[in-house]
Amino acid sequence: METVLGKSEGNWDGMTLMHEHIIASSPVMTKFFGDAWLDKELVVARSLERLAIAKAAGVGAIVDGTALNLGRDVELIGRISRESGMPICISTGMYYPGDFAFMRMPADVLASYFIDEVVDGIGESGVRPAIYKAAVERAQLTDEDVRYLHVAALVSMSCGLPIYVHTNAGYRNGLEAVDRLKEWGVPAESIVVGHCLDSYKLDYPLELLQKGTYLCCDRIFRQGDGALKKADMVAELCMRGYADKLVLSHDYICCEDKWNGKYPNDRRPGSVHDDLRGLCVVADVVLPRLKERGISEDQLRKITVDNPRRILAGKPKKGNRE
Ligand SMILES: [Zn+2]
Repeated sequence: METVLGKSEGNWDGMTLMHEHIIASSPVMTKFFGDAWLDKELVVARSLERLAIAKAAGVGAIVDGTALNLGRDVELIGRISRESGMPICISTGMYYPGDFAFMRMPADVLASYFIDEVVDGIGESGVRPAIYKAAVERAQLTDEDVRYLHVAALVSMSCGLPIYVHTNAGYRNGLEAVDRLKEWGVPAESIVVGHCLDSYKLDYPLELLQKGTYLCCDRIFRQGDGALKKADMVAELCMRGYADKLVLSHDYICCEDKWNGKYPNDRRPGSVHDDLRGLCVVADVVLPRLKERGISEDQLRKITVDNPRRILAGKPKKGNRE
């Protein structure tokens, strides 16, 4: 499978977190204001500190879910991966709401750019993405949302790349997103539906599982009792026989835009991403709770190691130019 430092066998030592971020930042502001907007040395320092703690807690690899329009920076992530020793997989694709430049662009034209990244590597870096990031956020999917999903489907079908879909559990909009992707021919096992436990209701994840997709049980943070409540939902899904279809993650951001040089300390709002052990809540809270609920070591290995590996290995590629 592909990482920011090249191909890997994926036999990483520990769990793979399927959806995290080194940065989630404005690429436009970063392009024009550089380090005044987001200081790269600060990003490196904060990330190395957090990744070292995560490694000690049993994290073996991370999938960075940062799409192009969330400020993906493969050079920076490559340096962080090298210096931390943490394997990091990279995303291609787009976060909502896309980009005004794409507004009337046909899906196949847009898809061709992402396909080039998968086949030839990102820019001059040679780094290949391991997953496609798509996103639906609105209550009703718009024509634009549907076109962006079509782009995801075209890339996935052409390159065998799995798709991670950001969804809104309150709106249950992943159900339509999955139906659309499947109609275009994407196999259910190439789809990972994200943020699916956020409404704390089991009907949404269960309906998704019936469609055959993987679920990313994420947005797991230390504050409040959300992590325990989500752990209990994961336990319930395991007990209903779905351990083969679940993966875990936090959706943590190592360095947010608010750490830029012009933002005074006393006006900076607190956030879940300030937690120094923000990449360890699965290890600290969720896994012990799952064990307490009787989930076996075998099932835990599936959701933390085997399933992520199977997803990242992708499907046999067709139409690959290699
Ligand atoms: Zn995310």
